[in-house]
Amino acid sequence: MTVDAVKYRFDGRCDICNDAVQFTSTQGWFRDYLLCSGCKSIPRERALMRVIKEHYPNYATLTIHESSPCGRGVSTKLADECPNYSYSHYFVGIPPGEFSLQHGARNENLEKLTFADHSLDLFITQDVMEHIFHPEAAFREIARVLRPGGAHIFTAPLVNKAKQTQRRAELSASGDVIHHFEPEFHGNPVDPEGSLVTMNWGYDIAAFIMEKAGTPSIIIQIDDISAGIRAEYIDVIASFKH
Ligand SMILES: [Zn+2]
Repeated sequence: MTVDAVKYRFDGRCDICNDAVQFTSTQGWFRDYLLCSGCKSIPRERALMRVIKEHYPNYATLTIHESSPCGRGVSTKLADECPNYSYSHYFVGIPPGEFSLQHGARNENLEKLTFADHSLDLFITQDVMEHIFHPEAAFREIARVLRPGGAHIFTAPLVNKAKQTQRRAELSASGDVIHHFEPEFHGNPVDPEGSLVTMNWGYDIAAFIMEKAGTPSIIIQIDDISAGIRAEYIDVIASFKH
């Protein structure tokens, strides 16, 4: 196997490492390839951290839950710095709220969380909300468990941009997957088969969340190469619980 040569190199400072680093890429597609020399994070992870820091500079003192952490970048930073950080994955067939010894993680279904109302300050998801069959239920549940003043801060590729959001796939009444487009899968840290993409989100995701969950959202686009934040589809969405 040959290793691709680095074609792009930028000196800068990483919001995740808090350190002077180099951002390098072997490819022009920075979204998956512009890596931090310190923490190996990718641009959307650094954008997410920037938004968390700017809106919740006291984040280390907050009660934070992350669904489906990726084992690097923001996930490990929050785990290291925040005593009240917890995380879960979704395992089909295991009762919600239970700890799976097999997987070494708590099981939570975003569409039916077991947390009490108003029990979390921040809810974090990274490229998860495009894989949910009932996103209206997931946004409603996340809003339910957030404390007033809290927020769901997340990334999801808004691939449709200004075009209307489309459902790529949904579940029939009997639980079969109905595909409206050619099935597309993204990498999943707990499933080698990957995760089916169910939603092509656009900027109307903010209106969708407001309608379904009642939480106003902002969509934040950051371009700051000095922090290694430059790529397509790295919008950060923050939905605030009032
Ligand atoms: Zn870094």
